[in-house]
Amino acid sequence: MTKMNRQFRLAKRPAGMVSASDFSRAESPVEAPGDGEALVQTRFLSLDPAMRGWMNEGKSYVPPVGIGEVMRAGGIGEVLESSDAALQPGDTVVGMLGVQTLGTHKSNSLRKVDPALATLPKYLGVLGMPGMTAYFGLLDVGQPKAGDTVVVSGAAGAVGQLVGQIAKLKGCRVVGIAGGAKKCEFARKELGFDECLDHRAGDLRAELKRACPDGIDVYFDNVGGEILDLVLARLKMKARVVICGAISQYNNAGPMKGPANYMSLLVNRARMEGFVVFDYAKRYGEAVHDLAQWMKDGKLQSREHVVSGFDRFPEALLMLFSGANHGKLVLDVEPQ
Ligand code: NAP
Repeated sequence: MTKMNRQFRLAKRPAGMVSASDFSRAESPVEAPGDGEALVQTRFLSLDPAMRGWMNEGKSYVPPVGIGEVMRAGGIGEVLESSDAALQPGDTVVGMLGVQTLGTHKSNSLRKVDPALATLPKYLGVLGMPGMTAYFGLLDVGQPKAGDTVVVSGAAGAVGQLVGQIAKLKGCRVVGIAGGAKKCEFARKELGFDECLDHRAGDLRAELKRACPDGIDVYFDNVGGEILDLVLARLKMKARVVICGAISQYNNAGPMKGPANYMSLLVNRARMEGFVVFDYAKRYGEAVHDLAQWMKDGKLQSREHVVSGFDRFPEALLMLFSGANHGKLVLDVEPQ
């Protein structure tokens, strides 16, 4: 019997906040894998803020998803059929599987992983792209030193939860910024951050002053916008600002808002540097080695937020922008 593949395709480019109507549902028969290809059943999909950017027209670090194309997404799945000896049915693989239940992929675009070593969602989080982002963004770009004050926004999210813990492992004082008391409590009590400031409550400017009385050495920015501006005003001499993302700006109907306080970089001889995790692809092994070791030693933990059911893809994606996700957001495509 022909297998059917269910998909979410990009129906139109969003104007402002992404919505369910920007996607269309489709179903099509699955093609048998050709030479060098494998048929993969998607188990979990990684839901990432970058997906919002991929929906826009225009130049970025990857081409936009075309109208009518399957929405791009990372995922982890099981090989059902393969015409490449390097992959066997039953193998677990990660790759850009797309928002679909089944798919035929070039086998050299898939990476085999061992499902006995970690749960599948962790391969999309701490051992996947967010883990690589936190590791190289903080250590290579932020260059924290023991005793530094490190501030990270999106502190309870996929990347932020790891950044703060790695900074603690390097002997830094860590101040997180997150939305809501529950996320802040998680960052302090479970992740071991020294402080966590709730950007949805109170006066963040005053809170930053209280929590960082001597200023900030490293700011790992996941959100951009007003929070970036407030942090810039508290930089120390020779501070490093890591531009990882600007989620507060991704759904703007108009242009993104840039920082007004950038002259703080001049006054403090500070550096602000953007980075894209894919540039570190050749070095992922280093990060996986360290992250896995820290996990094994009980020094690093990660929380995943699993939403169940393929049909819930659009509402689940929106959780990233309302802040409803607690930890790395993944979609369990067909709960077993
Ligand atoms: P995440 O933090 O797990 O989830 C997104 C979080 O962003 C939400 O839970 C919410 O947390 C916060 N947020 C949403 N809207 C906000 C707003 N208007 N103001 C302030 N905070 C807001 O997502 P992630 O996967 O770890 O990604 C974090 C950032 O890293 C994103 O900007 C992403 O684009 C970026 N990133 C960059 C790279 C790279 O190579 N440069 C790679 C991966 C990810 P609160 O409830 O705490 O507000």
